[in-house]
Amino acid sequence: MSPPRANAYRDRWCGAVDASCEGEQVRVAGWVHRRRDHGGLIFIDLRDKSGLLQLVFHPDRFGEAHEQAHSLRSEDVISVSGEVARRLSENINPNIATGQIEIVVSECRQLADAQTPPFQVDDDGPVDELLRLRHRVIDLRRQGLRDALILRHEVVRTMREELNARGFLEVETPILTRSTPEGARDFLVASRLTPGAFYALPQSPQLFKQLLVMGGIERYFQIARCFRDEDLRADRQPEFTQLDIELAFVEEEDVIELTEAVMASVFVAAEAKGIASPPWPRLSYDEAIARFGSDRPDMRFGLEIVDLGAAVAGSQFQVFSRALEGDGTVRAINAGQRELARKDLDILTEQAQRNGAKGLVWAFVQEDGSLRSPIAKFLSDQIVEAIKDALGAAPGDLLFAVADAPEVAASVLGELRLELSRRFELTAGAQHQLLWVTDFPMFDWNEDEKRWDALHHPFTSPTGSFDDPARLRSRAYDLVFDGTEIGGGSIRINQREVQAQVLELLGMDGDEAQSRFGFLLDALQYGAPPHGGIALGVDRIVALLAGRESIRDVIAFPKTASGSDPLTGAPAPVSPRQLKELGLKTEALATPAPKTDQPS
Ligand code: ASP
Repeated sequence: MSPPRANAYRDRWCGAVDASCEGEQVRVAGWVHRRRDHGGLIFIDLRDKSGLLQLVFHPDRFGEAHEQAHSLRSEDVISVSGEVARRLSENINPNIATGQIEIVVSECRQLADAQTPPFQVDDDGPVDELLRLRHRVIDLRRQGLRDALILRHEVVRTMREELNARGFLEVETPILTRSTPEGARDFLVASRLTPGAFYALPQSPQLFKQLLVMGGIERYFQIARCFRDEDLRADRQPEFTQLDIELAFVEEEDVIELTEAVMASVFVAAEAKGIASPPWPRLSYDEAIARFGSDRPDMRFGLEIVDLGAAVAGSQFQVFSRALEGDGTVRAINAGQRELARKDLDILTEQAQRNGAKGLVWAFVQEDGSLRSPIAKFLSDQIVEAIKDALGAAPGDLLFAVADAPEVAASVLGELRLELSRRFELTAGAQHQLLWVTDFPMFDWNEDEKRWDALHHPFTSPTGSFDDPARLRSRAYDLVFDGTEIGGGSIRINQREVQAQVLELLGMDGDEAQSRFGFLLDALQYGAPPHGGIALGVDRIVALLAGRESIRDVIAFPKTASGSDPLTGAPAPVSPRQLKELGLKTEALATPAPKTDQPS
């Protein structure tokens, strides 16, 4: 770090003053981190953006400065000058860069006074999150958030440098725009100049990035802010940041390789440990669902799902036989050598039911090879052997099975896998696992609306025949890190007719398609190259690298679970005049977010 320009406040960074500066006269500025009054000597740890530096105030040598130091309190802002001296050997702190020396302060100026902060800055221990969000300025001074923001900067800087080196152009796209369907609700902004009309905040720059590459900006990227008005249960934020990328003349392989190169550099820059270098493994969507019950499988541990259909065929147990006679399946997990009490098995069963299963079958393999299970009496020896064979089960193993529709059995066992990994800490000390999931279905049937929904978004290029939309696959790919989706993208449709056909399957007639996406359909008529791209979730990536549970811990000014900002009080009611200008009436004025609003 280069030194600051010398001015009235400072000529060094605190963290840059070390033993090599002994005897020099320096001026430093910052916050009082900690103060210790030893009767005679007063010690202050001074903090600036670069670290801590010990100041010592001598009552005899520099009485005026010492007098000043008497009244200083934590978080007061000061500028001091003095000579760099070696610490007495008993005061040496080998843990910090400046631990060998201290500044003997000859002059001290207090620049600002601080009240007692609502929580301590010099201790990075847990503090109620709402309090931290309300007093974010204080929180930003603490080590934890500061380190997270430094890491975030490194991650984003690396992304920019890698893409710049590969000839990408960083282009900004509009924030006030029209709806971009990514599957969430839009945030709307009323237009004053066109009363009754609204802008939508972008759920992603998807359509603009496609238009950019069609416009000849063949390699685009942006550190883009996206807005999705969702219920914020699963650690989501209404606005989040993604690295958004689009390229012309590419296939899946090109985007995947580029992403691997960028992310590998990010991992190096973040000094992430335990991450294999690319290429990362790939799984088709069907295989991910069959083996792990999820399209973002956590592969740091086994417990793979096995189809028991063949093993239990002909079983007397009606739940199995009925499932197999219909369209159902019987699938199972071998949880290995694990003990669980009856009450825990009941809890797991209830969870499975909440996740949509009719029930959960459990069985322990006993020493003699027989099963201890509520359904043991319905299973012949032959079927027990076939089950154990299929699951590779040995005495002591705990087995679980679900008989249900294939999607239900998969998702319930997928959730159970994760629950077992939490209970038995199966990921402790495991290597990180990155993988690609590919070959997604193009559509999902929406029974409520009686139409198809795009699984990714409607601009993803399909493969297969439109005669059977359920079997259409998409040229999409997701990047998964330890069971969390950190990115996703696709090769796009570059032909107007195909795009129109997809919009039609989503229930849009020609007029609606033209009115909502006419600008895209038009652009597709003027020579749209094959193109594709990806978006990587910056907040999530940084949180994973920082080992934080929540993305709020890596965002400078995040919102709570109810989408409010305890710092500024947003969202807030507006004045009647503003509403009038916008031609809006509200039924009831919004009340400010309640004080008990808890982030979760
Ligand atoms: N627009 C997509 C998203 O935000 C990413 C992509 O397809 O490139 O998830």
